[in-house]
Amino acid sequence: MTDGYAGYRAQLLETLRAKGIRDLAVLRAVATVPRHLFVPEYLSHRAYDDAALPIGNGQTISQPWIQARTLEAMQLTGRETVLEVGTGSGYQTALLAQLAETVVSIERVRALSDAARAALERAGIRGPMLLVSDGTLGWQPLAPYDAIAVSAASPDVPEPLVRQLVPGGRLVIPIGDLDHQVLTLVRRTQDGMERTNLADARFVPLIGEHGWGEK
Ligand code: SAH
Repeated sequence: MTDGYAGYRAQLLETLRAKGIRDLAVLRAVATVPRHLFVPEYLSHRAYDDAALPIGNGQTISQPWIQARTLEAMQLTGRETVLEVGTGSGYQTALLAQLAETVVSIERVRALSDAARAALERAGIRGPMLLVSDGTLGWQPLAPYDAIAVSAASPDVPEPLVRQLVPGGRLVIPIGDLDHQVLTLVRRTQDGMERTNLADARFVPLIGEHGWGEK
């Protein structure tokens, strides 16, 4: 891509590698997607910092390392159907579009979903289906999913999401209180689920029927 940001993207890749990201498909996706199109224009000079940035409506675009760690844990080969909860800026949606076959992304704030749609279009990414609703309920029409990523902090594992995973499916979700969470890999097994802690994290709250309440 020749957009004047190639050097910054290369630097971000180096940072992610240095912080332990090994999945080549994930690194390739980060090298491909123009992150500066997914942050507010006044922050485009910081788009390739390994940092969370404000995107409006009190929400943030997550730190690239956390996103890369999430994507790695989803173990995608390019053939999967995946669900994302918390579209936000649409950047992780764009990464998912490089890594899976079918991408559904749910956002509760319509203005953010609309902006994400516009950003995806500017980036030339057409595949993902964007929906406005409560993502803690999942989305039954395309279930079951091979993998699900939740980009907002949840008090616990939203049960509908586990139900919408294939056996062996992966759900990556930050679980904890409002100030501190652990990014957690939840694998659906034959008779329940298996949890693995991935990293400490701090996300904005997941607000919905199976997340935090409205207030
Ligand atoms: N991956 C996004 C993260 C955005 S922050 C990015 O990097 O840009 C998390 C997003 O989750 C916010 O936009 C917030 O509005 C959204 N969100 C919170 N609760 C939700 C719910 N129940 N369903 C769908 N989206 C939700």
